[in-house]
Amino acid sequence: MPPTPYVPAVGELVWDAARKCVGEVMDHRWSRYQLRPPAGGTEWHAAPEDIRPVPSAAGRRPGCSECVRIKAAYYAASRAGNLGEASALTEAMGRHQRIAHP
Ligand SMILES: [Zn+2]
Repeated sequence: MPPTPYVPAVGELVWDAARKCVGEVMDHRWSRYQLRPPAGGTEWHAAPEDIRPVPSAAGRRPGCSECVRIKAAYYAASRAGNLGEASALTEAMGRHQRIAHP
């Protein structure tokens, strides 16, 4: 007996195993899912067999582009030994999280 397929609702965040990223379900028709980056952007199509529930770590802050941007800038600054910039970015992250992820 095949396992029950995972059927997400429209608006739900899912994991696309083929693209290895999180998407928001926009539509489900013709046995394809139409997904969109949670932070907005170009939609793409995913096959139902690639759709999984979001892994819990990724689901907590699904694709917040600002978190990703700040984190990347922080790592770049600390790798470059720019401690002032790194600590400013730590503060920026704290401010952003208070506002965007209370
Ligand atoms: Zn964020």
